Order: sequence, then structure tokens, then C-alpha cells
Amino acid sequence: MRPEILNPLFEPVSSLSGIGPKLAKLLTKLFHGEDSASGAVLGDLLTHVPHSHIDRRNQPTISEAIAGEIATFRVYVDQHFPPPRSKPNLPYKIAVHDETGELDIVFFRGSGDWLAKSMPVGEVRYISGTPERFNNKFNMVHPDHMVSEEAFAALPLVEPVYPATAGLSPKVMAKAIRNAVDKLPILPEWTERTLQEREKWPDFETAIHRLHFPRDGLDLDPKSPARRRLAHDELFAGQLALALLRNQIRKTSGKARKGTRLLQDTLISAIPYTLTKAQQRTIQEISTDLEKPERMLRLLQGDVGSGKTIVALVSAVQAIEAGDQVALMAPTEILARQHLQSLKQLCDKIGIRIEVLTGKDKAAKRRETLAALETGAIDILIGTHALFQESVVFKTLGLVIIDEQHRFGVHQRLTLGEKGDATDILVMTATPIPRTLVLTAYGDMEISKLDEKPPGRQPIQTNSINAERIEELIERIRHAVTQGQKIYWICPLVEESEELDVMSATDRHEDLTSRLGNFVGLIHGRMDANQKQQAMEDFKTGATRVLVATTVIEVGIDVPDANIIVIEHAERFGLAQLHQLRGRVGRGSQKSSCILLYYPHLSETAHARLRIMRESEDGFLIAEEDLRLRGEGEVLGTRQSGLPGFQLASMEHHADILEIARNSAKLALINNPALSGQEGEALRVLLYLFGKDRAVRMLRAG
Ligand code: ADP
Ligand code: MG
Repeated sequence: MRPEILNPLFEPVSSLSGIGPKLAKLLTKLFHGEDSASGAVLGDLLTHVPHSHIDRRNQPTISEAIAGEIATFRVYVDQHFPPPRSKPNLPYKIAVHDETGELDIVFFRGSGDWLAKSMPVGEVRYISGTPERFNNKFNMVHPDHMVSEEAFAALPLVEPVYPATAGLSPKVMAKAIRNAVDKLPILPEWTERTLQEREKWPDFETAIHRLHFPRDGLDLDPKSPARRRLAHDELFAGQLALALLRNQIRKTSGKARKGTRLLQDTLISAIPYTLTKAQQRTIQEISTDLEKPERMLRLLQGDVGSGKTIVALVSAVQAIEAGDQVALMAPTEILARQHLQSLKQLCDKIGIRIEVLTGKDKAAKRRETLAALETGAIDILIGTHALFQESVVFKTLGLVIIDEQHRFGVHQRLTLGEKGDATDILVMTATPIPRTLVLTAYGDMEISKLDEKPPGRQPIQTNSINAERIEELIERIRHAVTQGQKIYWICPLVEESEELDVMSATDRHEDLTSRLGNFVGLIHGRMDANQKQQAMEDFKTGATRVLVATTVIEVGIDVPDANIIVIEHAERFGLAQLHQLRGRVGRGSQKSSCILLYYPHLSETAHARLRIMRESEDGFLIAEEDLRLRGEGEVLGTRQSGLPGFQLASMEHHADILEIARNSAKLALINNPALSGQEGEALRVLLYLFGKDRAVRMLRAG
């Protein structure tokens, strides 16, 4: 049961004044994802970190403005430029100036009436926001504030700014958060006293106040004691949950899965290629684990295309030889079917039965599959997480293989081993996750690395070019198209807002269509599934030759004959993302190229990122460089700097706290394995606060 003291924080956000069902839904989507069953609660708002702040002491003139840096300007309003009636999707612009220069304020879907009233021509206004440079002129998209002189005088000097979300104005967000902070109860201290004293950390309540009511910029500095404390709280909760989970897994002993190797040998000789050294080594590592009587918990890391699937199959066969069944879990149904296609032939050859179970199966077929599974007639069952519904019963499930691609959130799923008898678990990931991240996301897992690609892959030629040469580039694209090539054109990331991403993609699509003709396609996250499918089909069949896309194509899209990828505003992307995007080409037999189109002026780190991309295609090296660069305080590419699934802790600033949190968790469990007494209660509060209920329940089960 959740400690009662936390109840106020688990009230739905709709209990706040000003948050109706529509906004509540947007907040749920923001905090819990598109198809979450549980609604957003007040606690979610507390941990929503401002991405920056307005310090109204920073009041440069327009000529002194620095692109990308929040500032407040005192300006005169010159003229309004509403979009033409026929094109309501174009932005609404307002031209302003001060004594030193001009600036355009830009609104997407702005209400003309409201803008005319709040920005009267000829008046003085204070505007706060992030200036950006476009075509040698400053503009500011959706300012955080546009106020008169009197109103400006009444504003606080320092104000947190929250990431923009489609449909949610920063002001509404700020108000909701302030109201949520008011409901925060006094919680028991869960941090170990000596640690807290050594680090000079405030209590949780104070730390939350500093975050949302900063006294100055320093309070929002990720290195401030308050921010470090919050990062520790979050990481501590995560590490504690993982440690509880691991204790539980260890408690149930495993089974030694040793086979005759007859089937395995037959399989290996049936594979139409030679396994790489890395594949042979990882197969051996997994095999040794399977043979041990303890339960296996191993992570197989390998870049896209490194050949993880066959490693999974060879390992599966060992479990099958030992008399068990294997579940192979894919992130999507499409990938589940793809696995079946690529494995079935080999399985048929060696006489093992492999099936797929998806939501699309007809009832009769599903019944048949389930029955065959229960009698043990099926050796390997592929599916999505739906495999772990109650209706799916294995005869003897011995090995679960989770193909996570580059998604996280596995640790809940590690408990899936519950379906079998002392089940071994193998997680495969395409993300070359650095060790520190592995620890946060998965806890102490053994790691196998596929650090070598199958021979014969064509390298991808990577160049970076200045956007001043965009005309040249477009000519090159025109030429490539006439030669029958296919091109992805990836549009820039715009400050944390999907809506603006879409806007830049539609603009670029229009632009390229007018220059190149009608064979330019478009795909973005706001299209519905059918439209996306159609856009992909058109590109696959060649009906379109250039595909303008937002980063929706980052995951899993496979068009082997697309061989050029242009990434516009490449300097805004993180290294890992650039690498994933580039991985969309170089999948066929022809030579491929990746063009990183950048806009000056590049920061030093942006420079370094582009250089690394030009020099390397090695996912592991890129991941390490990525971490190193971010460790040096990269501001751009903030989308990636957070730890996945974490709000308060970031890799960039809090890597050292991860180690502290691991120790905190270890110590807490050594002293108090059942989390009993008053101290234990405080730890339970912490776990519930960060949504680690499952770990607490496990305690009870043990
Ligand atoms: P991933 O690690 O991304 O899951 P896959 O397992 O899908 O990679 O393998 C990518 C492709 O490489 C497949 O077509 C597979 O058949 C092929 N492949 C795997 N291992 C080898 C190898 N040792 N030699 C040649 N081709 C291989
Ligand atoms: Mg794969």
C-alpha cells in the first residue's frame, strides 16, 4: 500500500484549478506517454524540470543578442504580418526594433486578435525569449513573455521556464507546477544523514522549492546542492528498486541448461555465412551462463546490423536442447514478424518449431498457437510484450530473449521470468550504451559486446557542409534523383517542440517540391498511421524519390535502396541520434553517403560532433565520445542529455551521483533488507514517490 502521506501527490492533475480534462490529457501524454493507462498526477509536475530560466537582469540590446540564449529586450512594435487567408499554416510574424537592430517575433497558429491587442503597433513592449538567427536576422519564436512596461516591473526577476509542449503554454504549466508545489507534504528524510551533511544537501521540500521558485540562476544550476540532492533522490530510488529486484531474482535459484550440442552444431553448419569472431565469443559467453545453475541476466550489446539475431538463435537452441522453451520478445509486431521471416528457414532445417503470436492473429489460429505452446510443441515463440499476458502459458519456459532495440524501461520486464521455471534472461540492445547508463537502466548485468560487423559492408561517406552551400547541395540531389537514387532529408530539431519540428519539415517539403518537382514525399509524427504507412510505401516503391522527414524515421525504418541522407541543422542533434539517423542508409549494396548540413556559427562541441561523425562509423566509439562531450557541458542537443526515463538526474551533470546512489542503495539494503521500521518507511516513501511500487511489492512477496 502506498504510504498515506503521499496521497496529495497522487491526486490527478485535473484537481488543480485551471486544468480541465483537455490539459490533463496533454499532461498525461507528456509525463506518461501516448497510450498510458494512468493519468498524470501532481507528483509528475513536481519533477518537471525547467530547461532554463529568465533572468530579467539580462537585458541586452538586439545587436548584443546571442542566438540561443534567453534574454529580455525592450522593443518598439513596428508591424504585424498575419498569414494570408489561403495559407493559415504559415506563421504570424510581428516586426519589432530597438535602437540597435530589428527582430521578428514568430507565432505558429497565433490568434491574430490576441496578438493585435497585446502587441499594439507603436508601443513599447518587453519581450523575453530565445532569439535565433535566420538569414542574418534575429527572430524569436513564441516569446515566453510580451508585456508592457508596468507589467514588466511587476514580474519576478528570476523565473523558471519549462519546456514547451504542444498545446500547453509555458504559463499554464508554470502555474500548475506552482500549485502542485503548494500541496507538497513534509516527507520523512530518506537520505543517509552523514551523506546529506557531507554534501550540504537541503531537505526534499526545500530542494523542490529551489527548483520551481529559484532565487537566482545558481539555484537552477544542475550542480547546485538542491539539484544534486534531487538527482540523488531519483537515482537512489532507481538503484534501490533494481537492487530489490536482483535480490529477488537471486533468491530463486536457476537451472543448469546444458545441451548435447548436437542441434547447435547442426544449426551452425546450416548458417549460410561464417560467424564473426565477436559472434562466436558472445555465443560462448551466453552458453557458459546458461550452463551455470544460477539464473542468467545478460545484456547483449551490438550496433545495428552487427548480427544479434543469430546469436539469439544459437543461444535459444541450447535452452531447447536442455528441454526448455524460449520466448523472443520484439518491440513491435512488425519486428516480431521480421524475426520470424529471418529465422524460420533455419529452424525448419534443424527441426525446431518457431511461431509468432501477435494481436492480429485470428481467434482460431491464436487458440491453436496457445495450445501448441502449452503442450510444448512450439520451441520458440516470438511476440511483443503481449506474450506476457496471462492467457499465454508455456510448458517449460527456460529462456526469455528481449530484443529492445534502443528502448529502455526493461527492468520492469525482467520480472517476466516469472512465467517460467528459473528462467534465464538475455536482453539485446542496439544502443551502444555506456557502462554507467547500463547501470542506471538495468542494474548490475553481465555484458556481452558485438564489437565487430559482418564483413563486406560498404562504408558510408560522411561529409559536413555549410548551409551557405545549400543550392549546390540541392543541385546534387537533383542529379542523384535523375540517376534513380533515393534520398532522405531530415529536418532540424526545433527546441523541444514536435509542432515546430513538423513545421520545419512541411516548409522544407514545400521548398523542395517547388524546386525539384512532385516526387518529394513527407513524413512526420503528426500524421496518422495510415498516412505514414502510405508515405513509406511511396518511398519504397519509388513513387517518391526524396523523403523529407522529422526524426520519426530514426527507429526501425528500412529502405535498403535509399543511399543518401541529408541531415539539416546537423549541429542541433546529439551524436547518438546522428548515428542512428545515418544508420538508415548503407543497408544495400550501393555506396551511401550522409551529408551533415550545418548552420554557422558552430559551438566547439558541435564542431567536435560533426568531426567524429565524419571520422567514425563505430557505434561504440561514438557513444563514448558522446558521453565525453556531454560531460564537458554541452548545451545543445539537450534532448539527449537526460538519462532515459529520468527527470531530475542527467548524465551530463550527475554522473558522479550515480555511484553515490548505488552505494546508498547497497548500504540501505544491508542495514535494512526488509525496509522495516521508521527508516524503512522513509525508503518506501521514496520508492513510491518515484513510481517504483513494483519493487516494494516484491519485498512483500519475498
Ligand atoms: P542486428 O544486430 O541489427 O539485429 P541482424 O541480426 O538483423 O542485426 O543482422 C543483420 C544482417 O546481417 C542479417 O541480414 C544477417 O543475416 C546478417 N549477418 C549476421 N551475421 C553475419 C555474418 N557473420 N556474416 C554475414 N552476414 C551476417
Ligand atoms: Mg535486430
